[in-house]
Amino acid sequence: MTQNQTSWIDLRSDTVTRPSTAMRMAMHEAEVGDDVYGDDPTVNHLQAYAADMFGFEAALFAPSGTQTNLLALLAHCGRGDEYIVGQEAHTYKYEGGGAAVLGSIQPQPLNNQADGSISLADIEAAIKPRDFHFARSRLLALENTIGGRVLSTSYTQAATSLAHQKGLATHLDGARICNAMIKLGVTPAQAVQGFDSVSVCLSKGLGAPVGSVLCGDKTLISEALRWRKMLGGGMRQAGSLAAAGLYALQHNVARLAQDHEHAERLANGLRQIAALQVQTPQTNIVYVDMPATACADLADYLKQHGILARVTPHMRMVTHLDISAADIDKVIAVFTTFFATR
Ligand SMILES: *Cc1c(COP(=O)(O)O)cnc(C)c1O
Repeated sequence: MTQNQTSWIDLRSDTVTRPSTAMRMAMHEAEVGDDVYGDDPTVNHLQAYAADMFGFEAALFAPSGTQTNLLALLAHCGRGDEYIVGQEAHTYKYEGGGAAVLGSIQPQPLNNQADGSISLADIEAAIKPRDFHFARSRLLALENTIGGRVLSTSYTQAATSLAHQKGLATHLDGARICNAMIKLGVTPAQAVQGFDSVSVCLSKGLGAPVGSVLCGDKTLISEALRWRKMLGGGMRQAGSLAAAGLYALQHNVARLAQDHEHAERLANGLRQIAALQVQTPQTNIVYVDMPATACADLADYLKQHGILARVTPHMRMVTHLDISAADIDKVIAVFTTFFATR
């Protein structure tokens, strides 16, 4: 098998999802125009739909979640400003230092607690006095879900209120906010309450091939639009891509509950294997600890059995819309046989 074939059970990430036939039809039929001129009706529809869904005035479509996060950081912060962020956060750790490189924005990373939150005391202590010795504390950036963990609404409300009281703005990296919202059983607007901007990935569990949206007020989004142009993210007949995103928001949100069930099923199955330590998943991400000595052989064995995964001593497996319950059962069976024969 080649890596392109859909018959692989691919647990590496929920970014590996492929557009369904219905989504491809929506892309095929999309009305398009030049979005740099604001002329693409499908992009405009997606942006209006996302803004309305999450309770914001405006939204902006961009090629990736890294870009929507960067647009938000650049729109909120100027040169010599800083953003307070978790050590484990994508906007700090996994975006190539873009805020510093491209925005002269200083990150102030703080430890994430075991539940993924940053303690309010740590946030408060990190906010710097207005004094010329210090960078200007300007923004609190949180992430939900973070490593598959869900931040509670009471926490995000407390953290965003604290930030606002201290004169900071708030940004949510909501790459997987729909997973959080489904888990919490709240509306999209409730899930992002307290945030001045939110970035939402369309290309993860929601199944679109490309794209993220940034939601915020009109002023912020017009600032982000300017940065998007500067970063080369202005796309022309982007409606074909936006149609996939729109389809994703309209059809693939409620079904995330299934991915969460599959993650739980996977964790319960793997927990029967003595050599493994399995964390109870909250959403679609399962973490499994195993002896380092097993990793190389396990990776080969999984591959021989049509399963793609990144095997490490602290292994992450991600469920998504191209993984069925039968796939999960196969994965459990393959793991079980592997560890039984060692
Ligand atoms: C995937 C992801 C992003 C954005 O990733 P892109 O690949 O640039 O779309 C941002 N934040 C988090 C938490 C993510 O998981």
